[in-house]
Amino acid sequence: MTDNAGRRVRVRFAPSPTGPLHIGGVRTALYNYLFARQHGGDLIFRIEDTDSGRFVPGAEEYILEAFDWLGIKFDEGVSFGGKYGPYRQSERRDIYRKYVDMLLEAGRAYIAFDTPQELEAKRAEIPNFQYDASTRMGMRNSLSMPKSDVDALIATGNQYVVRFLIEPDQDVTVNDLIRGKVTISSSVLDDKVLYKSADQLPTYHLANIVDDHLMEVTHVIRGEEWLPSAPLHVLLYRAFGWEDTMPQFAHLPLLLKPEGNGKLSKRDGDRLGFPVFPLEWHDPKTAEISSGYREKDYLPEAVINFLALLGWNPGDDREIMSLDEMVSLFNLEKCSKAGARFNYQKLVWFNHEYIMLKSDAEIAQLFKPVLERNGIQESDERIEKAVSLVKNRVNFVGELWDSCKYLFQAPTEFDEKSLKKWWKDEAPKTTAELCDFIEAQPDFSGQALEPAVMAWIAEKGYATGKVMNALRVTLVGAAVGPHIFEITDFIGKEETLRRARKAIQALA
Ligand code: GLU
Repeated sequence: MTDNAGRRVRVRFAPSPTGPLHIGGVRTALYNYLFARQHGGDLIFRIEDTDSGRFVPGAEEYILEAFDWLGIKFDEGVSFGGKYGPYRQSERRDIYRKYVDMLLEAGRAYIAFDTPQELEAKRAEIPNFQYDASTRMGMRNSLSMPKSDVDALIATGNQYVVRFLIEPDQDVTVNDLIRGKVTISSSVLDDKVLYKSADQLPTYHLANIVDDHLMEVTHVIRGEEWLPSAPLHVLLYRAFGWEDTMPQFAHLPLLLKPEGNGKLSKRDGDRLGFPVFPLEWHDPKTAEISSGYREKDYLPEAVINFLALLGWNPGDDREIMSLDEMVSLFNLEKCSKAGARFNYQKLVWFNHEYIMLKSDAEIAQLFKPVLERNGIQESDERIEKAVSLVKNRVNFVGELWDSCKYLFQAPTEFDEKSLKKWWKDEAPKTTAELCDFIEAQPDFSGQALEPAVMAWIAEKGYATGKVMNALRVTLVGAAVGPHIFEITDFIGKEETLRRARKAIQALA
């Protein structure tokens, strides 16, 4: 598909490497991904690192690793290549300078020398001071000063900024695919700084617009926090004369606290015990460690599915969707304007569903390292079988160990409650008899053993529940677990008898 101007759909995810990627950023990237795939377009990965003061080492690598884990693939950009590069803004200085000069020459921007101290003094002097049409002539800039003074200041190495000249009293309309038309008056905007001579870099606004233009971006899909910048961006497109190819905007709803009031923050995660980052993050400055979904044992598919539904739904009550299904069902215009609650408990449910959806073989591969950490080496086939017996009982792969360790090793402890309930009266005696009976059985497979044992119990006049639970306690260590004959089948005749007889002795 193409956009209104007949262009191939191109979208971008453009994080600033100022720290770990917030989960809201993951949702933004996901929606861009779904939109690009749906329209057979391109998804660009751009790094917006023009604010050198906020640069955090390792953040870019972290973001890439997170998308790799999540299975979100980019078509071009930093680390992916492409013909619109470089895709890291700090490597595009010369390009931006050219566009800054264009605005200066066209009289759409001007040079300002006001120092931070001077600006501070103005703010103290004038309540609600804003650098704009009403104040700019009282400031030190190329509009208020003679050209010779401006040239002299630059020639003698004074630092300056370039500001956008905003004409007051113009209507600026942002046409948002999610929010509709939003019109404001240009008078509320200030003459934003577009460029700083000190680091020879543009600010976010200029770099963002120039790059979206040069990279032929057709749709800007980003978080609601960028909505206030959108009118300024529209004015910049106008100033450059690029209105015809201006991207369509779509500002995604905020992610809200689980309780619903206010924006989701890292503090909410700390308070309620859930990560707000895809991967664990080690802060290089403070050495603080923030938890991540990967390390907390979530499946990437579950995280993706959960995030996809925070701000959008397919129009029915379908919840479990593969990435491909989401691609075909996604509809940007059906995204909600209202914020989406971050109901993290729902993510636990998704994780369980994805454990059930994945094949036993896939889960077995994830479970294998957990087993190995616990000193268990088993064939893939046996691990798969174990997984099939207990996976419906867990929400996380890591929980499988506690749910099925008895399949791989004899219990070393016995649960008090289970003993109290099932290991009393005749239990040791009937279990010993049952062992003798089982030992004499020629066919130990669950299929053969179950009817044989049932017939034996009936013949003896014992209570099935009592006999079977007593045996279960000796094999498992507690009255839990899957069907008892699945367990005996899995651990085998010798081990069944060894455990049961050992427990009779140990519990005597
Ligand atoms: N660099 C901005 C960010 O960190 C990008 C905003 C946009 O998508 O325009 O989110």
